[in-house]
Amino acid sequence: MSEIEKKGHLHPLTQVIWEVCQAFREMGFEVAEGPEVEDEFHNFDALNIPANHPSRDMQDTFWVKGGKNVLRTQTSAVQVRYMEEMLKQGKQPPFSIIAPGKVFRNEATDARHEAQFHQIECLLVGQDISVAHLKGYLTELFAKLYGKETEVRLRPSFFPFVEPAFETDTPCLKCTKDGKAVKGNQCSLCSGSGWMEMGGSGMVHPNVLKAVNLDPEIWRGFAFGFGVDRLAMLKFGVDDIRTFYEGDLRLMKQF
Ligand SMILES: [Zn+2]
Repeated sequence: MSEIEKKGHLHPLTQVIWEVCQAFREMGFEVAEGPEVEDEFHNFDALNIPANHPSRDMQDTFWVKGGKNVLRTQTSAVQVRYMEEMLKQGKQPPFSIIAPGKVFRNEATDARHEAQFHQIECLLVGQDISVAHLKGYLTELFAKLYGKETEVRLRPSFFPFVEPAFETDTPCLKCTKDGKAVKGNQCSLCSGSGWMEMGGSGMVHPNVLKAVNLDPEIWRGFAFGFGVDRLAMLKFGVDDIRTFYEGDLRLMKQF
């Protein structure tokens, strides 16, 4: 065994987080972090998630004793904290961050669901920001991660903190040709659709900007939040998400 093998190396999920952060640093973004125990304001209110929204329900959210704080359910809370902090320091947009971190959901675990997983969040706020910017940065991200031009598909969806909101897809790792999705295969990963869902994206909702006292008449932004394990599956060609959590060194050494 070589010296390096004895010392070990980065877990594939960590590699992906580092790579995405580096790609966005090169595009002028700052890496931001926030607390894993979050208050209701940053995790829900400021993200336009009303008090009666089902995601606040005990079934989805881990509440910390006392009922005021939660284990954050998404890295979007970091957007709010970052914007507040910048404005407090007297800075104005453009704000551009990439924010990796652990998130928590009070769900039963199975092949595709874990109670704790990693997300990576991106936020760009400025003047005249449009969906074209969102798609441009996404295209750049996937090209850097996978080393080749890869198709990006935005499907209309709903998330409280973005409007319009999109599900963001890239070609399934098994059903792709020249970076484009191929439909109709007998594939357990994408059920033959040719696409894999990476996470949500969209234009920052005016209420989120208002929550930090930014005027939505002047400022606009885009945001996206992806599951790190999905990105890693595509990057390393792994078709079972559990591979990353089994801690089997023989497997980990392949990446
Ligand atoms: Zn497929």
